[in-house]
Amino acid sequence: MKNEKIWLSSPHMGGAEMKYIQQAFDENWIAPQGPNVNGFEHDIEKFLNEDIYVAVLSSGTAALHLALILLGVEKDDFVICQSLTFSASANPIVYMGAVPIFVDSEKDTWNLCPNAVEDAIKYGISKGKKPKAIIAVSLYGMPYKADEIKALSEKYEIPVIEDSAEALGSSYKGQKCGTFGDLSVLSFNGNKIITTSGGGALILKDMEFKNKAVFLSTQAKDDAPHYEHTYIGYNYRMSNICAGIGRGQMEVLAERIDQRRKNHFFYKEIFKDHPHFKLHMEPSSDFFSNHWLSIVQLDPSSKIDSAQLRHNFHQQNIETRPVWKPMHMQPVFRDALFFGSHLSDNLFRNGLCLPSGSNLSDKDFVRIKEVLSEVFLLS
Ligand SMILES: *Cc1c(COP(=O)(O)O)cnc(C)c1O
Repeated sequence: MKNEKIWLSSPHMGGAEMKYIQQAFDENWIAPQGPNVNGFEHDIEKFLNEDIYVAVLSSGTAALHLALILLGVEKDDFVICQSLTFSASANPIVYMGAVPIFVDSEKDTWNLCPNAVEDAIKYGISKGKKPKAIIAVSLYGMPYKADEIKALSEKYEIPVIEDSAEALGSSYKGQKCGTFGDLSVLSFNGNKIITTSGGGALILKDMEFKNKAVFLSTQAKDDAPHYEHTYIGYNYRMSNICAGIGRGQMEVLAERIDQRRKNHFFYKEIFKDHPHFKLHMEPSSDFFSNHWLSIVQLDPSSKIDSAQLRHNFHQQNIETRPVWKPMHMQPVFRDALFFGSHLSDNLFRNGLCLPSGSNLSDKDFVRIKEVLSEVFLLS
């Protein structure tokens, strides 16, 4: 009999989710509003523990789109975006008719390289169009260098949209991810550290901005007995059912962070004596990653490459995945601007995301270790 599949990162329910969903059914709150929506927002605000406001939405992508709208991005504006990321960080720029400028990674966090960001800003200014926003990602849960990006943001007066879709539970210098951007984004898609099946959140610095986000996400209905519209609206609010899942998941978030970090330490132990396998790690004690995914980089001098490693796992019915393919390498963005030294190209080529679910069993760890032990003999 074939071994059961080990997934890269699968949903992991905590147990309380059904209670909140049942409440929604009992009270007939089957709508994109209700007590779970408000409760989930409150839970996230409490967790992030800063002076912020949360609007829960239908997806992280919707949150990024609304962030650009709230910042007043217009057609043909430049928006700086980390190149090494999931396409959802960048696509909303195109929804706006704006123009992405992709920026390379730096080696410590794999996130925005501050020098390349400054080059991109100067380029925009030289064209008479200072970029309207900087989309900074905390990729795989690793916080970006928030101090350095904030310094640039202040120097040039360009707001930061923090894409922490993968970084709920991470922090930088003791401050939680989700609180660094002028606007910040979380995702609760099925593969993230906690999930609402599909969903996201926009995190804002004041109540007025939150009200505006909620207004736009619920079809921009003006205050009138009939349907009156002064603005173009969106149907981006989170369902009260999904928010019920979110409330249950918030009860186990601390455990999920622990479990993901334990995965990382499991891999750290395995790779510690192998010069060809380098685990992506926190660069210093300033960084606390939720280690949403654990990623290994294969040294180019190794006899096996990341594709071979992925194949070996696949043969044992274990899912792994290449590192995100940078946006500047994507066919859909082949003509886009790019600043940097192509470090992210190599991270993509040599990297592999390893099974990182919070629900991995002891038996799963044994199977993963077996594959790696075989591979070490080949390398
Ligand atoms: C998942 C993800 C998103 C999009 O979130 P959805 O909720 O899936 O729309 C955006 N950016 C990054 C980096 C992501 O990983």
